[in-house]
Amino acid sequence: MATLYLTHPDALRHLTPPGHPERVERMGAIGRVLDDPRFAGLMRQEAPLAGLDSARLAHSDRHVDAIAAASPAEGIVQLDPDTWMSPGSLDAALRAAGAAERAVQAVLAGEAANAFCGLRPPGHHAEIDKAMGFCLFNQAAIAARRAIRDHGLERVAIVDWDVHHGNGTQDIFWADPSVLYVSTHEHPLYPGTGARSERGEHDTILNLPLPAGTDGAAYREVFEGIVVPRVDAFQPDLIIISAGFDAHRRDPLANLALAAEDFGWMTRALMDVADHRCGGRIVSVLEGGYDLAALGGSVAAHVEMLMQA
Ligand SMILES: [Zn+2]
Repeated sequence: MATLYLTHPDALRHLTPPGHPERVERMGAIGRVLDDPRFAGLMRQEAPLAGLDSARLAHSDRHVDAIAAASPAEGIVQLDPDTWMSPGSLDAALRAAGAAERAVQAVLAGEAANAFCGLRPPGHHAEIDKAMGFCLFNQAAIAARRAIRDHGLERVAIVDWDVHHGNGTQDIFWADPSVLYVSTHEHPLYPGTGARSERGEHDTILNLPLPAGTDGAAYREVFEGIVVPRVDAFQPDLIIISAGFDAHRRDPLANLALAAEDFGWMTRALMDVADHRCGGRIVSVLEGGYDLAALGGSVAAHVEMLMQA
């Protein structure tokens, strides 16, 4: 079975101001590497457009309606110091959600071994009631909720290796024992949450803050020693990866020191857990990654490993 790759041109219609790191060019960096012949075996599909009801799986009606209402007819509007909307942003966010939902459906139906959703804006900072940190809707959380509510899964694990803490995903699943949320992130760093002591109402949140300068070797120790055993013990029916690539040493927004091959290694480690617990089922969703060359190389390492399922 192949790896499913979902994207859509609407991801180019979400515009941010000049100099903003979360920019349209990120899509080109990913598209170019995945055009290489070594990725010819990918099953490629256009991301469907999710409805607002999909966003309501993870967000309050108030938030979903506010984002829809904030969508500008022209120009760009600022929602918080980092987060903007242009006329195409709502569709871009709903394509990102639609991709994650479609990926869940395809992987659970056995149409694909696993899946990578390469769209923007990212989602893991979007809380139940708030857009922030470049994120409007939380596609990883929407996918987890969809898997549980409509596909009958009992437990979903979300592993978030973006260099920033996924405060939004933590907020959404704080009191939900059906979802394990594990995050590795640089600390202190934006958004400031993600201390070890934040564990959720049911001890289903695991935060692993790492100091600036943490390199691949130290990351692998944390992954092997803590992340993998915890995810395995949760016995998930599906693993969702919040795949940010801003822990790469070249990234301008953070100070960790991973290389592209480290993302391949982490992918393999989670694939081994998935093989053991849930028939290899992994859905990976793009989050951050702001150095274009590092982003392209890291996505290549990640997707190349997924294709070895
Ligand atoms: Zn990030």
